[in-house]
Amino acid sequence: MGKRNTQQLTCSFCGRTMPTMYTGLQENVLICDECIESGHRMVMANPKNKQANDQGLSLETLPTPQEIKEFLDQYVIGQDNAKRFLSVAVYNHYKRLLQEITNDDVEIEKSNILLVGSTGTGKTLLARTIAKMLKVPFAIGDATALTQAGYVGEDVETLLVRLLQDANYDVAKAQRGIVFLDEVDKIARKSENPSITRDVSGEGVQQSLLKMLEGSIVNVPPQGGRKHPEQELIQVDTKNILFICGGAFDGIERKISQRMNAQTVGFAAQEKAAKIDKNNLLQYIAPQDLKSYGLIPEIIGRLPVLTYLEPLNKEALRNILTQPKNALTKQYKKLLAMDNITLSFDDDALDYIVDKALEYKLGARGLRGLMETVMMDVMFELPNHKYLETVPQTFTVTKAFAQEKLEKADLYRLKNAV
Ligand code: ADP
Repeated sequence: MGKRNTQQLTCSFCGRTMPTMYTGLQENVLICDECIESGHRMVMANPKNKQANDQGLSLETLPTPQEIKEFLDQYVIGQDNAKRFLSVAVYNHYKRLLQEITNDDVEIEKSNILLVGSTGTGKTLLARTIAKMLKVPFAIGDATALTQAGYVGEDVETLLVRLLQDANYDVAKAQRGIVFLDEVDKIARKSENPSITRDVSGEGVQQSLLKMLEGSIVNVPPQGGRKHPEQELIQVDTKNILFICGGAFDGIERKISQRMNAQTVGFAAQEKAAKIDKNNLLQYIAPQDLKSYGLIPEIIGRLPVLTYLEPLNKEALRNILTQPKNALTKQYKKLLAMDNITLSFDDDALDYIVDKALEYKLGARGLRGLMETVMMDVMFELPNHKYLETVPQTFTVTKAFAQEKLEKADLYRLKNAV
């Protein structure tokens, strides 16, 4: 739509001559400011659009799965499979919320998601990025902190308080938010057979998580905690909250391979077995494996979208340093640009940093600590240069420089920090 300033042309809708006109694809069709405004009012008066507007989402503005994935690509390196699953699940989830009430008995069920993958491979980042894209409230919690109601510890309520806070206490908005719950593998029952297990606590916590996933009305103390018994409770319905759960499920590869071995009997099956990529068994994960791992079937049923994250290899770590929209190197460049210094990194310096992350098994999360160590003195000293007569315009982080800084540092300390 183009804008034209003219005294002569008339609006194709109201027929008046107005100072500012907008054209569409056809240059001879014009519309004035006032007609745009009254058109907008009419569209918003439609109940369907009004509801959508209240939510900040509408079928027209809801990004398609492909658009969601493209957005994720800007922030998260690799993890194509998880991105595709997430994009479709999130798209369907919000379509479900925007569906018109029809009489055809077809009810779209909620599609909560389970992301399985080692720690530091991008599970939280994916969930957070989706919430950011859709501008919906977002809260992060840890399943290990959940307790069965009545015990001391963090509760389902605390998680919902966080969501409520992120929604500025707009309950309707919070009820359409996204909750990321990490470490769900840690609440798995230790044995698959419930009759012989004494490990009831895991199951109790799973039951309380289940209630939340199924959709229940939770009374939430707005301040969080139970220290203020006098405060009025807010009722939050979890029915439309999208839950994205994550877990490393250490050792689940064994369950996957046991199941696959059991299936591979006979000649055709043997041929199939030969094609199995034994180095990345996680890609074959199926709901049965979660059951063998100790999740109760009801929880598995409530997490119908199951996908995995790949371990990050050298190339992925290297890309994480430079490619995402808010990549670490971009952040340092921006910081120093504010002091009028152009910062650059030599390729072999970044390769060296990635090698150290791999050597010390620091993963993606450790990259930040390594970069901080390399950049500390630079960030301390360079801003002071503004008091000098001749200000250095550029600074390049070379491999030798990175090496000098990291060799001085205690990298084992970083390992404990991630
Ligand atoms: P997880 O939830 O799987 O344990 P996170 O999403 O919290 O891992 O990742 C930790 C940090 O590592 C992120 O904040 C991000 O900086 C970085 N990171 C991890 N995986 C990726 C990825 N695939 N792409 C970009 N950055 C990543």
